[in-house]
Amino acid sequence: MIAVRSPDEIQHIRASCEIVVAVQRALEQAVKVNVSTSELDALAERTILECGARPAFKGYRDFPSSICTSINSAAVHGFPSPDVNLVEGDIITIDVGVELDGFYGDGAFTVGVGDISADCRRLLETTRGALADGIAQARAGGRLGDISHAVQSRVESAGMSVIREFGGHGIGRTLHEDPHIPNHGNPGKGPRLKPGFVFAIEPIVSLGGPELVVGDDGWTTTTRDGTPVAHAEHTVALTAEGPEI
Ligand code: MG
Repeated sequence: MIAVRSPDEIQHIRASCEIVVAVQRALEQAVKVNVSTSELDALAERTILECGARPAFKGYRDFPSSICTSINSAAVHGFPSPDVNLVEGDIITIDVGVELDGFYGDGAFTVGVGDISADCRRLLETTRGALADGIAQARAGGRLGDISHAVQSRVESAGMSVIREFGGHGIGRTLHEDPHIPNHGNPGKGPRLKPGFVFAIEPIVSLGGPELVVGDDGWTTTTRDGTPVAHAEHTVALTAEGPEI
């Protein structure tokens, strides 16, 4: 069952997402060589609390932190540690979830630390492009598969792989709601899209192969071939006029 949100509910989700953006801006400034991922987590948590909101990831299925920090070949769900310091040339994905007055916002971005390789730059561009292509298909009257297919097409035409184990999701009164939004699929297939749907669309892209392995901490997943992964996510409301990020 995919929830249809009222304009009032969408306004609440928008308010949560504005806090996600404020946190992301603060984090972008803070990503530097030698900064630890715990410091980034503390900054995110402080910013969220100052906005009167709650970090949505903390405690979610016992997740220990306010943000996910996934570096280089880590795909998703890495968690911050005082022992992990950023190194020149790393790429880091930071995923931020916020709950305000019972409504959720979710967003992720990947940035380079200092100078990054040309391959990593291409990976970041492709991932952001795939997100933009997916969002462009988040239109009432279309089908869910149109979003998935647009993401997959952009990624695979660049010679990269979508990570298939994870994808986007409905969002609103909880962090993860129906539907699951795969980053691969066929156009014209799946549920018909309606105004009032709110989706977190999130391509997760590997520069190499798509296979993952789960780390000893039980959360962090990395690519089997060790190639870097990027991830971009926006929360998007489907309106009669088109997608609103
Ligand atoms: Mg998400």
